[in-house]
Amino acid sequence: MTKRSREQKMKKVPFVTKEKVEEIVKTYPTPFHIYDEKGIRENAEAVKKAFAWNEGFKEYFAVKACPNPFLIRILHEYGIGCDCSSLTELMLSNALGINGHDIMFSSNDTPAEDYAYCAKVGGIINLDDITHIEFVEKILGGLPDTMSCRYNPGGVFQMSNGIMDNPGDAKYGFTTEQLFEGYRILKEKGVRHFGLHAFLASNTVTNEYYPKLAGQLFEMAVQIKEKVGVELEFINLSGGVGIAYKPEQTANDIGAIGEGVRRAYEEVLIPAGLGGVAIYTEMGRFMTGPYGALVTQAIHEKHTHKEYIGVDACAVNLMRPAMYGAYHHITVLGKEDAACDHMYDVTGSLCENNDKFAIDRMLPKIDMGDYLVIHDTGAHGYAMGYNYNGKLKSAELLLREDGSVQLIRRAETPADYFATLDCFDIYEKIRTS
Ligand SMILES: *Cc1c(COP(=O)(O)O)cnc(C)c1O
Repeated sequence: MTKRSREQKMKKVPFVTKEKVEEIVKTYPTPFHIYDEKGIRENAEAVKKAFAWNEGFKEYFAVKACPNPFLIRILHEYGIGCDCSSLTELMLSNALGINGHDIMFSSNDTPAEDYAYCAKVGGIINLDDITHIEFVEKILGGLPDTMSCRYNPGGVFQMSNGIMDNPGDAKYGFTTEQLFEGYRILKEKGVRHFGLHAFLASNTVTNEYYPKLAGQLFEMAVQIKEKVGVELEFINLSGGVGIAYKPEQTANDIGAIGEGVRRAYEEVLIPAGLGGVAIYTEMGRFMTGPYGALVTQAIHEKHTHKEYIGVDACAVNLMRPAMYGAYHHITVLGKEDAACDHMYDVTGSLCENNDKFAIDRMLPKIDMGDYLVIHDTGAHGYAMGYNYNGKLKSAELLLREDGSVQLIRRAETPADYFATLDCFDIYEKIRTS
């Protein structure tokens, strides 16, 4: 490969152009999150195809990754349900007509009202802890017919290329002993349909994670059958399938991942007489992450101890860089082919020095007014937004397949920010000031 073609290959190409953004900002000012309908649909189709070998396969989109009803509705067209983690996510799902066993409720430290609501709309409760069996029983006055348990084997999750994550430090799930005991109790109490769930590594950029996790859970399923006499009906591989945030990373191949899970299924489950088990997934990041972008404008430049570019978005629009030091690729629109010969810190306006979308990033020379695309914000982007410094959350837009742009959430206004003061005298003064 020549240097030039390697550079080309390592390039991340935004799904909006400078011309498109210039047209959009006439109606919707920056900053905004925009989502690519075509990308979301093609990916949903690919997920469906990758697991088509499993009759009961179902993806439950992790709503927390991108809780926008318009996007959830698109995913639902592909038979995708909702993985909810809270009362409001359950309400959103139910309002979209997604309920019953189209809901997986994978929560932890769960409030009683959340369980009650989940039961009311018929969602599948995925228990995070053995003590929740009694907790749920008390709230509901009995247990639902179908229940799932979340497993945490402890230790580290290791693959051939090293340690992927550290389940032993994670607050989630039942231990191995608790899992056997849990199914025993559930069976005794009259539960008739059982599932198993585990989430052992996050943002894995390898086709080996799901197959390895599946192998481990399939072995557990065999043991559960032997030790407790419970035959699982579904095994939920949860989330953790990652995306290539960095241009030099190779994106996961969902077809290869599905094939890997199939091999483990045929090796472990079928010989054990468990060939009817349905495979469930709860992907969030993989479903929408690459198909969202934060578009922001350069509004200040500052030349002090470092070179700074100040943009009109800040960490309330995208928290991942500030929170985890996460890398998000940046494209300066209209300068896609320009040399990256300037080093910048790209900052937001919060009074926090970690409010930086990029640190020491090589980019083309940025001029005031340039539009920047911050890539891969379609999951855990808008969703993690908050209101620190009194900053308001941006709009969400959908780039339709026909090239039109649809507003799918308006930007917050000061009135939204002050709305929770509406029962106090000061409210009227703020509103009219
Ligand atoms: C966050 C989460 C997911 C989705 O994880 P991704 O890494 O975004 O795919 C799925 N299930 C549970 C229980 C989660 O907490």
